Amino acid sequence: MNSSNLVIALTKGRILEETLPLFQQADIVPEEDVFKSRKLLFDTNQDNVKLMVIRGSDVPTYVEFGSADMGVAGKDLILEYGSEGFYEPLDLQIAACRLMTAEPVNPGPMSDCLKVATKFTHIAKKYFAEQGKQIELIKLNGALELAPSLGLADAIVDIVDTGKTLEANNLEPKELIANISARVIVNKASMKIKNAIIRQILGRLRDAVESN
Ligand code: AMP
Repeated sequence: MNSSNLVIALTKGRILEETLPLFQQADIVPEEDVFKSRKLLFDTNQDNVKLMVIRGSDVPTYVEFGSADMGVAGKDLILEYGSEGFYEPLDLQIAACRLMTAEPVNPGPMSDCLKVATKFTHIAKKYFAEQGKQIELIKLNGALELAPSLGLADAIVDIVDTGKTLEANNLEPKELIANISARVIVNKASMKIKNAIIRQILGRLRDAVESN
């Protein structure tokens, strides 16, 4: 951890488009166009604040181990990471969606042991265990929606926004596992060592969230 700079890890992709306006309202503006540059680390208008732009699934790791002091990541990825190695002080209320189970609209014969395809294996395992249901987990990184129609799984666990992706693949949402939005997370040691600047940024971001 660099004690003079404050590094904030942002999730690239659709969350970033909603994150940057909030950061701008909090007076943190990258000096380059983060959507055009291939850089991963950006200077900002604040001399001591740098922004990293990385995959959401890596944000909790960078923050837990202190390579980034703060981060913005979807609650789905924070739950999947499954650690209490950082604080989660602020809900940015952006990139809202739901983590749900989904099944075919016209289910075929069920397997003896429910086969669930997902990239959120940690969350799914915990959720079905809490329901007292034994499942067989199938880890997929994409195109989950195809798994039931190809006989690979009976159900999936995935992010649902409008529900159109499920509908287009003859699936329907079933159980809500968690409401998801982007959260700010903070490294525990940074919170102590860099408390003044982190509190200032959190306060400004909170004001930005409340004014929207
Ligand atoms: P939809 O068809 O609107 O229900 O969108 C579902 C697809 O969009 C899923 O496959 C998700 O991977 C993706 N998606 C929607 N909202 C989000 C979000 N806030 N964060 C990450 N992925 C999302």
